[in-house]
Amino acid sequence: MKTDLKSFDSKELNTFIADMGQKAFRSKQIYQWMHKQLACSFEEMTNLSKELREKLADEAVICGAKAVKRQVSSDGTNKFLMELSDGNHVESVLMKYKHGNSVCISTQAGCRMGCRFCASTVGGLIRNLRVSEMLDQIYEIQRITGERVSNVILMGIGEPLDNYENVVKMIRMLSDEQGLNISQRNITLSTCGLTEKMRQLAGENLTITLAVSLHAPNDRIRREMMPVAGRYTIDEIIDACKYYIKKTGRRVTFEYSMVEGKNDSPAEAKELSRLLHGLNCHVNLIPLNPVEGRMGQRSMRERIEEFKLILEKYHINVTIRREMGRDIDAACGQLRNKNEGGKLHESLCKD
Ligand code: SAH
Repeated sequence: MKTDLKSFDSKELNTFIADMGQKAFRSKQIYQWMHKQLACSFEEMTNLSKELREKLADEAVICGAKAVKRQVSSDGTNKFLMELSDGNHVESVLMKYKHGNSVCISTQAGCRMGCRFCASTVGGLIRNLRVSEMLDQIYEIQRITGERVSNVILMGIGEPLDNYENVVKMIRMLSDEQGLNISQRNITLSTCGLTEKMRQLAGENLTITLAVSLHAPNDRIRREMMPVAGRYTIDEIIDACKYYIKKTGRRVTFEYSMVEGKNDSPAEAKELSRLLHGLNCHVNLIPLNPVEGRMGQRSMRERIEEFKLILEKYHINVTIRREMGRDIDAACGQLRNKNEGGKLHESLCKD
């Protein structure tokens, strides 16, 4: 198998290039071609000799993922189906905001966490994504749109902390000056609450935002929604969050997907307020995107507003997530599932 060059950080690339008998500055040139100029082939690397380009092409590849389908929502949200070199697919989403372009990427093909309302976990975990496959989701979107990506969120298919080493390496490369140089403050990682890994992440010296999928004010309800709640209690998760806040000085975000009649009552809002009282956090209420065959319906708008008011009364920072891309299968995993079922009619992706 050929070497996956885009998954190398600059140190690893230096070694690889030195082993080829090349001078050190070549490594820097190649790194920038891949991670700054977003080259998709060695041919484009015109400041390298033809001989070197051919040698590289014989030994290595630089393409981790390719956008093969694109859906455009009426609100401007773009959803991309990305094809990996082994034929697996994942999804990535581009959201345009006033403050810049945000890209939501997948970290695994499939997922083994089993959340009952989620479309991504239906077929289980296929495999972890490589560093190059995560980076290429962002690079492809920036290349196709010609617009700079300023924010990245790890909230697509998969559990990022279940692919820990690759995810942390990818974040470092994404925020490197030799690459896209995206500020770590503009990178958000969302987890279903794997507490050992949350603590490990706190020690990585990163300034990213940690988002935790809480979805319930107590363990009983949480276990009904998320099998992983059987492994980690809410108390353990809050402890891990406190540790993260103390170590990094960063505020933690809690995601709370609102499911009608399950977790959306005023009593549950009060219980959540008591739980989060005094914590340096922000709560993001997400109206459930109902997925066929999966748990739940979305809460009524008034119910969500009422829930928000109660949290505010208890001085908890709270927002309701603006809904984007509902007309294009916004819930992560929906586009991929459709594609595997062979029912996808959307336009092919054009460069
Ligand atoms: N595995 C990570 C990140 C992926 S999911 C995690 O669990 O956080 C990103 C967020 O969307 C999570 O909060 C997840 O629980 C939520 N989510 C998944 N499916 C959803 C749906 N159908 N409607 C609303 N939120 C959903």
